[in-house]
Amino acid sequence: MRRPIVAGNWKMNLAVQEGRDLAEKIKASCGNWNAVEVVLCPVYTSLSAVGQILADSSISLGAQNLFWEPSGAYTGEVSPLMLRDVGCRYVIIGHSERRTYFGETDETVKRKFQSALKHGLKPIVCIGETLKEREANQTFAVLERQLAGAFTDASAADADKLVIAYEPVWAIGTGKTATPDQAQEAHAFIRKWLVGKWSAETAAKIRLQYGGSVTADNAATLMGQTDVDGALVGGASLKADAFTAIVRAALEAKTVAA
Ligand code: PEP
Repeated sequence: MRRPIVAGNWKMNLAVQEGRDLAEKIKASCGNWNAVEVVLCPVYTSLSAVGQILADSSISLGAQNLFWEPSGAYTGEVSPLMLRDVGCRYVIIGHSERRTYFGETDETVKRKFQSALKHGLKPIVCIGETLKEREANQTFAVLERQLAGAFTDASAADADKLVIAYEPVWAIGTGKTATPDQAQEAHAFIRKWLVGKWSAETAAKIRLQYGGSVTADNAATLMGQTDVDGALVGGASLKADAFTAIVRAALEAKTVAA
């Protein structure tokens, strides 16, 4: 049984004190729900403060990005070692906003993925098609290209630490959620690709999150799909009540029913 994982991507929102307040509220509501893994991903400047709040809870700290080198003359970048230093366990890699606005490619995603693993961070690798690609029936081809690009040199031993977030770009921040069938179809495709890459046993261990306008209202049906093991949540993760309801939906769909 895969342990469900719900991550909050706060994006470029919340000053340090606002981040502290939100983390305190989320910790109070679901800070000891061990059956679901909860990850909060604040901006770099709040990692340390939020990490201190989460330290005595079951909630993990995650970053929204990293640079692959451990240190050096890379002005403005943050290394995996620095993320570990402030208590991060997870890091989001290849989010579509980074691919769209900051020129990230399958190649940079691969380098970041490998660096995260090398330095003891668990990567949440984001993949997903644009609306144009979906309408041109290219969804599976895009997913295949992104998976192959990120995981070319990855081994089955790496797979155990990996989380993949399927995030259709047309659903991110738009209020247009994929239907549960669309999400399951894409997740089943990803799982099948992982079976081909490694094995059925390894693929069965890898957690696949759905991301794209997940809310307290649609979380239960999305999470009810066989291959949806959790959610990567943007907008709704900025409200403690909404985020907690999504975590509860994961808990109920994946553990109570099990
Ligand atoms: C995200 O940022 O990964 C995301 C899915 O955002 P939203 O939930 O706001 O669509």
